[in-house]
Amino acid sequence: AMRESYSCENDAGFKQVNPQAGDIVVVGGNGKLGKLFVKMFRLSGYSVKVLGREDWHQAEQLVANASVVVVSVPIDKTEETIARLPKLPADCVLTDLTSVKQAPMKAMLAAHDGPVVGLHPMFGPDIKSFAKQVIIYCDGRGAEHYQWLLQQMKLWGPRLHESDGKEHDETMSMVQALRHFTSFAYGMHLQNEDADLSRLLAFSSPIYRLELAMVGRLFAQDGELYASIITAAPENIKMFKRYLRNFSSALTLLEQGEREAFVEKFNEVADWFGDFATQFQRESRDLLLAAHDRVSH
Ligand code: NAD
Repeated sequence: AMRESYSCENDAGFKQVNPQAGDIVVVGGNGKLGKLFVKMFRLSGYSVKVLGREDWHQAEQLVANASVVVVSVPIDKTEETIARLPKLPADCVLTDLTSVKQAPMKAMLAAHDGPVVGLHPMFGPDIKSFAKQVIIYCDGRGAEHYQWLLQQMKLWGPRLHESDGKEHDETMSMVQALRHFTSFAYGMHLQNEDADLSRLLAFSSPIYRLELAMVGRLFAQDGELYASIITAAPENIKMFKRYLRNFSSALTLLEQGEREAFVEKFNEVADWFGDFATQFQRESRDLLLAAHDRVSH
């Protein structure tokens, strides 16, 4: 029901939190994620302008009346793009949607003396609604001046979670880089084994379909984007190596026929997960139940 009400609201538009605001300028607003935010700000009543790759000759006019400048260009162009921005109005909020946070935050604080807040929407442009999605935000400076922007995004439905650049980037290594990398390797393995995907699906009840979907959906998307996310931090590669070591030591247990050692290790990990293990079991069951209800009603 919540999903429905949000998607209806999408069509009808959202309440405008700051009717006094000037332009919202989205740098890279013709891109996948930029376009989505352009749409959401327009649906919320703001005057939105796009500063695309070919528009730099008129950058100064474009930002002259800006209340917000949102940078949403490819990750590897982000810092140079921020540095290239013309002088912004003093009270303009400078923000970005980049999947990494430390470097863009530093660049934004250096480029602009006014309010700065970094954003990382934890979803891609293919979502149907912002409801239940998560947006991480990092304070740069001038929180009182960008509160309205956070309030505006809250009306779209996501949960906003505050972090700092360092915590964000470290957590991302686990939440996105490792997950995408293992999905990638899993997909590569399915290809090399020439797995029959339709047969796998036919044999899969919902939880296994979900797991297969988590892997397969990666390959419906952009390889460049995933290359950037997976290699975003140099530490990621080191972590993947540690993962590989864990993988092979688990394999060694099996190869050596150490069934008991395997079970012992299993219980050790289970102890470490503690109450989260049952919480995860419950959450996955509820998710599948909810998905089932949506399909059958
Ligand atoms: P994209 O390639 O679809 O869009 C980038 C846009 O920037 C393009 O329209 C491109 O023409 C434009 N651009 C390139 N150089 C430019 C320049 N110098 N000046 C102005 N515009 C320029 O990429 P995207 O997927 O929309 O990603 C944009 C940002 O959003 C990235 O920082 C990415 O980390 C972040 N992000 C993306 C996703 C996702 O799933 N796509 C999710 C979360 C965050």
